[in-house]
Amino acid sequence: MLPSFIDLHCHTTASDGSLVPEEVVKRAKSNGVRVLAITDHDTMQGYDRAKPVADELGVQLIPGIEVSSSWSRCEIHVVGLNVQTDSPALKDLVQEQGQRRLARAEEISARLANLGVKNALQGAQEFARGEVCRPHFAQFLVKAGYVRSMSQAFKQYLGNGKAGDVPCCWPHMKSVIARIQAAKGVAVLAHPGRYRVGRTKQGALVRDFSIYGGDALEVVVGGQPAVESQHFARLCERYQLQASVGSDYHGETTPWTDLGRIGALPQGCQAVWQGWVK
Ligand code: AMP
Ligand code: MN
Ligand code: MN
Ligand code: MN
Repeated sequence: MLPSFIDLHCHTTASDGSLVPEEVVKRAKSNGVRVLAITDHDTMQGYDRAKPVADELGVQLIPGIEVSSSWSRCEIHVVGLNVQTDSPALKDLVQEQGQRRLARAEEISARLANLGVKNALQGAQEFARGEVCRPHFAQFLVKAGYVRSMSQAFKQYLGNGKAGDVPCCWPHMKSVIARIQAAKGVAVLAHPGRYRVGRTKQGALVRDFSIYGGDALEVVVGGQPAVESQHFARLCERYQLQASVGSDYHGETTPWTDLGRIGALPQGCQAVWQGWVK
């Protein structure tokens, strides 16, 4: 696979990535990425740290964020790209999401306590260097010996339908799209193939995303087979959406993907970055 010059989805230690923002930019540069968006879960803190390094290395850093939302009892991720970093709408959104994350972390901890897992919140916070995310609980569960691996932690405690899957709390996808656009960003439906829904519901999700005014679909995702990307390219055409690409790199916890190691957009797609990439 040819390295992609653009990667619009990745994580740093500001959320659940394992590299600090500066290291992510350096790795992107050495992987041949010239345009990068850091899209941490519900926070922009990584951007502020990464920006000076990106400027120094000549990497164009697009302000980005991955916002947790809900739709039809599913947790759906909406990536906001090219948001205005000083926008009050963005600041309010980030602050509210942070409060929800903290409340959710407390609830996860209480639920785990019911299963005999003590001090989970404190344990997760020891791994978090920014927002507390479920993988930090997974790391704690591994370290404390409750499970052997992160994937086991999700299977037993944190994944779909398990105690630590708090169906909360996140704002509806429709309002998240509007909030991202109020911050002058474009709203991208993240990794549409990763939600545990069948093809019919997946189609309904993309249709609703488009009806709510969403801008683009993440057509190319790290580790996703090319045939899937073709499928999402067709959905873009059908629902008049632009297309984005992203590795969803998290560092050592996602060894199947790396910055810029993603396929090209299928022909016929309208790149979401047209107009803002130098
Ligand atoms: P949160 O945003 O706190 O709900 O955490 C969700 C994150 O957990 C996702 O973005 C993934 O990085 C990670 N994750 C979700 N499911 C799994 C899984 N089965 N195994 C490992 N990591 C997962
Ligand atoms: Mn993540
Ligand atoms: Mn995601
Ligand atoms: Mn992500």
